[in-house]
Amino acid sequence: CLDIGEGGHVLSNFIKTQPIGVFMRNNTGQSTQSIWGGEQEHELYERSTQVPVVHSVSFAYKDIDTWHKVALGQEPGHIYSRNTNPTVRAFEDKVKVLEGAEAATSFSSGMAAISNTLGTFLRPGNRIVSIKDSYGGTNVIFNEFLPPLGIEVALCETGDYEQLEAEIAKGCTVLYLETPTNPTIKITDIKRLATKAHQVGALVVVDNTFATPINQLPLTLGADIVLHSASKYLGGHADALGGVICGATELVEKVYHYREINGATLAPMDAYSLLRGMKTLKLRVQRQNENAMAVARFLQDHPMVDQVNYPGLETHPGHDIAKQQMLGFGGMLSFSVHGGLDAIKQFLPRLNYAHMAANLGCVETVVGPPVTTSHVECTAEERAAAGIPEGLVRYSTGIEDIEDLLADLEQALSVLN
Ligand code: PLP
Repeated sequence: CLDIGEGGHVLSNFIKTQPIGVFMRNNTGQSTQSIWGGEQEHELYERSTQVPVVHSVSFAYKDIDTWHKVALGQEPGHIYSRNTNPTVRAFEDKVKVLEGAEAATSFSSGMAAISNTLGTFLRPGNRIVSIKDSYGGTNVIFNEFLPPLGIEVALCETGDYEQLEAEIAKGCTVLYLETPTNPTIKITDIKRLATKAHQVGALVVVDNTFATPINQLPLTLGADIVLHSASKYLGGHADALGGVICGATELVEKVYHYREINGATLAPMDAYSLLRGMKTLKLRVQRQNENAMAVARFLQDHPMVDQVNYPGLETHPGHDIAKQQMLGFGGMLSFSVHGGLDAIKQFLPRLNYAHMAANLGCVETVVGPPVTTSHVECTAEERAAAGIPEGLVRYSTGIEDIEDLLADLEQALSVLN
């Protein structure tokens, strides 16, 4: 038995701390799930109605036998907060219920969710197949970090199913997808590629950050693991970093074990902020879907706008697939204006109701070019290779009144006339 420090080996304890939505009926709606999910399973402190923030590194026992049983997973409870914590567990349970998963585990950020998941399943000599349009940080893992470990990375053109299927057919350990993509908002058919990946025994991982479980349920489309940057839509208020993965207990347990040892643990205070944000997830996302559709139509008709990328538009190349696999088209869009980066430098600072910031998915509208946001880590050549014009704007629609957002865009774009 390995000595792995204060936390002890609490892998079996992980299962015990994850009762599977026992109070949540299968037929509940997503608003009910986002409000009640993860909140009824456990005894809350002193009859509080809200999940308390448990700022405690460890959990004390009055007798060795109970402590031992909890550590072995024979009784529910917590040992050490790097492994499990009551506030963090409630957050994991809520996401698990919303994604319709058996288990979930969480991380200090979305990137920690991605790197720990890949670190769990990839070994030297393995192959991973993915798309070129993944989030910039994910691309850095693919291009910089995995190859020196002896892991072959095959990045395909997003939407080139012939290339993707040929690379999958060569054999791979992981198929990694992100749909819609950041920031080009391309759509990939999860079901089609998951079927191919399973034929070669690969694990299918889907980054569902942009869609949220309100708009897309990858596990129902064949994904094995769904992951999120919870810092975005799940939290929704741009005040907490976090990451989470969901899937079958057997898989999530392995990632949990990797994370508990690597230590990229979600902090209880952040878990609390994410939990509180998630109670309004469906309300927010529905409003963001509606606002994004209206903004996309407005921009599509604007004389200074070259191209609008939004899967809800009939002209979007992924519109038909999005209609099949998504429940809503999402709050994210991107567009390019005449005049490229120079035009963006003039127009974006004029917006009154949009933060120019490297974030997305929150209640406020947030804008920024990929050059300072999702793809800041990439060179101009890498951005060009990924089909990202230097003059692209990523627009994360907030929940403001749509009339105000449209009027704001109109007055800001008028500087370009
Ligand atoms: N996945 C996507 C699609 C993202 O947009 C981001 C961040 O923007 C991440 C993952 C990484 O998340 P985090 O910033 O929480 O590490």
